[in-house]
Amino acid sequence: MDLMEYQAKELFARHGVPVTLGRVIDDPAAAPDAARELGGRVVVKAQVKAGGRGKAGGVKLAATPEEAHTVAAEILGMDIKGHTVRRVLLAPAADIAEEYYLSFLVDRANREYLCIASTEGGVEIEEVARTHPEAIAKVRIDPIAGVDEAKAAEIVTAAGFPAGAAAVVRRLWDVFVAEDASLVEVNPLVKLADGSLEALDGKVTLDGNAAYRHPEHTAYDDKAAADPLEAAAHAKGLNYVKLDGSVGIIGNGAGLVMSTLDVVAYAGEPYGVRPANFLDIGGGASAEVMANGLGIILSDPQVRSVFVNVFGGITACDAVANGIVQALAVLGRQADKPLVVRLDGNNVDEGRKILAQANHPLVTVVATMDGAAELAAQKGAE
Ligand code: GDP
Ligand code: MN
Repeated sequence: MDLMEYQAKELFARHGVPVTLGRVIDDPAAAPDAARELGGRVVVKAQVKAGGRGKAGGVKLAATPEEAHTVAAEILGMDIKGHTVRRVLLAPAADIAEEYYLSFLVDRANREYLCIASTEGGVEIEEVARTHPEAIAKVRIDPIAGVDEAKAAEIVTAAGFPAGAAAVVRRLWDVFVAEDASLVEVNPLVKLADGSLEALDGKVTLDGNAAYRHPEHTAYDDKAAADPLEAAAHAKGLNYVKLDGSVGIIGNGAGLVMSTLDVVAYAGEPYGVRPANFLDIGGGASAEVMANGLGIILSDPQVRSVFVNVFGGITACDAVANGIVQALAVLGRQADKPLVVRLDGNNVDEGRKILAQANHPLVTVVATMDGAAELAAQKGAE
């Protein structure tokens, strides 16, 4: 689960990382009072789970409470990389002397943790990696030893941070470990005019596998910010992730669905067409599950075609084919986009026969996965 900046800063504060919490509002009318409370000059920041808010116009300074009102009204409702801004954070405008970058993350390839640190903060780290790769320090962290005093000193030296940064580095490491995060990123970590340090932004990803250890984290589970289709899918127990292409995908088994996304992305490239979603209907492809899945996918206005890719196992192809036929009957006119179906595996001949007999005008059965991806991509471009 990814946290918004103000939530990340709440966690930081609990572990002694220097931050200014400010005020979160969802109505511009609340901005002047909040700004006055915070000292008049404030920064107004869009709270969305996307980076580059500054560049997108989602972070603005306001010199007066009246200006805070204007700026909050501009930013609330703004679209940043597909995320609608529903809340803004107001914080006292900081007097920045220098901007640094610091993150802790899981280094899966090396089975350890990694600290990335740079004095070139405030811009995207990917950009620093391109333009000044020498300005980025990467320090490996032994998972057992963690970040002790010596490791913190090593990070500070490698990055070129002021010596006082070691304490902040260790506290951010405490956040990473104690909260079971898989990412803690601060960009910028700033040196203020008076020489003190402060985390001015925060990005935290909490490891869902450790959620059972953190009942308090459920408060961060932001249903309203989730995609409405994803919320509807999860309410029906479907394993669905919304993407932004036009070819809807249904498959059984996460591995098959992932490779279906790949083949559709590949087949769709010449048409500029991409997958619209990930949907794994799992083992029991009953008519009800199929109808729920198709219903979610077809209510995505971006979807132009649907690729149903099923490998019959314990739930054989004939059961899946019946599921598709019944789902289309249940959905009636709600089913209004072409379906390309590829069935293989257990009882495939039976399954194909059922679909051939049903002879539904929207359904085309294609024998191979590549062929079906090609046809779905073509139809997704129409
Ligand atoms: P991001 O663009 O989504 O990463 O949002 P940030 O929170 O990192 O803000 C972007 C940039 O806005 C920062 O790198 C700072 O340069 C600037 N900024 C953010 N807060 C303040 C502030 O309180 N005072 C000043 N002067 N600049 C700020
Ligand atoms: Mn930032």
